[in-house]
Amino acid sequence: MYAATRHDPRGIDGMRYDVIVVGAGPAGSTVARELAKRGISVAMFDRAAFPRDKPCGGAVSTKCEKQIGLNLSSVIERTVSDVSITMNQHPPSELFRSSSKPFGHLTQRRFLDALLAEKALEAGAVFRQRTRIRSIEPMDTGVTVRTSDDVFCGRILVAADGANGVTARLCGINLPKHNRSIALEGNISPEDGVPDKWFNAIGIDFGSMDGGYGWILPKGDHLNIGVGGYTHVGPKLRTELQKLVKFYGHAPEALWGLRGHHLPQRHETSAVVSGNVVLIGDAAGLVDPLTGEGIFAAVHSAQIAAASIANHLNNNTSLGAYQQNLEKDIFSDIRAAKTLHDLFYRWPGIFHRIERSKPLLWHAMLTYFCGDATYVDLSHKLGRLWPVMRTASRLMRTISEFKDGAK
Ligand SMILES: Cc1cc2nc3c(=O)[nH]c(=O)nc-3n(C[C@H](O)[C@H](O)[C@H](O)COP(=O)(O)OP(=O)(O)OC[C@H]3O[C@@H](n4cnc5c(N)ncnc54)[C@H](O)[C@@H]3O)c2cc1C
Repeated sequence: MYAATRHDPRGIDGMRYDVIVVGAGPAGSTVARELAKRGISVAMFDRAAFPRDKPCGGAVSTKCEKQIGLNLSSVIERTVSDVSITMNQHPPSELFRSSSKPFGHLTQRRFLDALLAEKALEAGAVFRQRTRIRSIEPMDTGVTVRTSDDVFCGRILVAADGANGVTARLCGINLPKHNRSIALEGNISPEDGVPDKWFNAIGIDFGSMDGGYGWILPKGDHLNIGVGGYTHVGPKLRTELQKLVKFYGHAPEALWGLRGHHLPQRHETSAVVSGNVVLIGDAAGLVDPLTGEGIFAAVHSAQIAAASIANHLNNNTSLGAYQQNLEKDIFSDIRAAKTLHDLFYRWPGIFHRIERSKPLLWHAMLTYFCGDATYVDLSHKLGRLWPVMRTASRLMRTISEFKDGAK
């Protein structure tokens, strides 16, 4: 199904396309599908052989599912509506919250990403696997991309090559250092299958990780357990993960598939368009700073990019529209999430105590994960408190960036 193909019926000379997409994660496959659906010739390539896995909890919020707009039932292993919230891995701190409607699903990235790539192929995109970029030559009228086995020419190049992508750098886009988080995850396969407690619930533990949290996410036959936080927590991630695995009642030695990765967050001044090059998803640093959710923004930015690129190719409008539309639909929300992040992770105990007396945060996050409100909507509800929170958050961020040496 994913065999590399040299022939594109709509390409000129076989290797010339309107758009070349580097990376076939949720961002790359979505932009390729959306462009192909509009009759635009697209070649997408990825260095990996599909199906491939990547470090990820595989949590797909209801909001994200709606944004993807496809039937995901073939790759969903569990649907969740409950959450266990704890502090510092302390059992008496547990708050168990239930919702009448699901707020998300659990999948494995190798399955989700293969499905999205398949949908891009079905729409008419060309997909090359095991193909690495060697060099990129931006020109006034397009780009020439030399890969491990071919030369592609395109009018537009889309960088969808994830957190450690090299496309932007090869194109000479000088990205200011992203304010990054880091996470480590692994899996446990309990002998008797997934415990009843996690049948339709996830677990989140706050307090142990500076700037982040620990999680347990149930899949079909195993549990994904992970920890994440500010970059400076990197050296203690492994120990913290082992502690968390024990807290959830499993032996750390039973962990398999351990993988760590950065979660890139854009700097205010990071460019997402330069000449004929467009950055989407993790390559543009669009991970939600509060939750670490990145699939939603990968898909959403890809859809916005596809609309802007199609308009540019068909009507000669400026590609800069992509940056402006991201500002409206994604950047403003990321900014609000950063404010919430800085305050919440500075004093998680206070928020936990508030939550214990009244489930305000649970309701707010439920609304968010179900796609019924954005962070900006939630900030409006806070009225005059919001500017005070913003100022306090800037102070918190300066402290954490100083710790991370990111200044
Ligand atoms: C530990 C961890 C847990 C996470 N959990 C969640 C979660 O539960 N839910 C969620 O929504 N988000 C989660 N995220 C974030 C999420 O994984 C990313 O935000 C998301 O994968 C971004 O999608 P993308 O398409 O931009 O990039 P990716 O999914 O990273 O795809 C990039 C693709 O580009 C390819 N590539 C890279 N370099 C090259 C090259 N030079 N040439 C060709 N191809 C190349 C790669 O092989 C890859 O297939 C998590 C992240 C981490 C690190």
